[in-house]
Amino acid sequence: TPENKPLIAGNWKMNGLQSSLETLTAIAEGVSAFAAKTDTLICPPATLLRAAAVISAGTALRIGGQDCHAAVNGAYTGEISAEMIADAGATFVILGHSERRTLQNETNGEVSYKAAAAHTAGLTTIVCLGETEAERKCGQTLDVLGRQLEESVPDGATSGNTVIAYEPVWAIGTGLTPTTADIREAHAFMRAALEARFGAEGKTMRILYGGSVKASNAAELMAIDNVDGALIGGASLKADDFLAIAGIY
Ligand code: PEP
Repeated sequence: TPENKPLIAGNWKMNGLQSSLETLTAIAEGVSAFAAKTDTLICPPATLLRAAAVISAGTALRIGGQDCHAAVNGAYTGEISAEMIADAGATFVILGHSERRTLQNETNGEVSYKAAAAHTAGLTTIVCLGETEAERKCGQTLDVLGRQLEESVPDGATSGNTVIAYEPVWAIGTGLTPTTADIREAHAFMRAALEARFGAEGKTMRILYGGSVKASNAAELMAIDNVDGALIGGASLKADDFLAIAGIY
């Protein structure tokens, strides 16, 4: 897209101790070589957000949270607000990851409220969606994606404050990926839906693919029409793996 570079984003999930900041430092140094062509982001656990933001300050690497609460503050023990994530120096937040939709029973509506709160706090949201294996087998993939896009992405989403991540649930952490044709179809469908709802903003909003992206398949996956980058789990935990993917453009 003309305004947005591709985005290579890493989700560390519940992995990473202070000692992992070495990996983050190596990534922050390594991505400078690709910064003209590619935006890069690491989403470490909340305990590392501040240190990660300090380490990456002045580099091209961006830092993001993995979830936020929809409220600004209050009596929500254990939760983290969008403002807190921004205050730590992060600029992105992943929302609606399938692990949270499954394990925390997050609904599309909750994801949308969280995204609106994140936008108010000045964060760019990565809204995750994707079909389960059962939904794909029943031929419901595009119906599911359409509903998730409609209900999880808030009004007011722009190509600057919102990134979509298409992550087929059955492809996450399994080594399986959809065929090129299936990814092309899903991304074309999402692009059309985004354009219908958001006009020009929907045309340039980035749509990432996620699910078992690694150095050996990234170039092929990122070459598919309307794939504007990747959301990476396992392969973002090692600097060499992440940098090999970030360097493909
Ligand atoms: C993810 O959980 O966002 C993901 C894509 O994981 P992996 O790359 O490990 O499949």
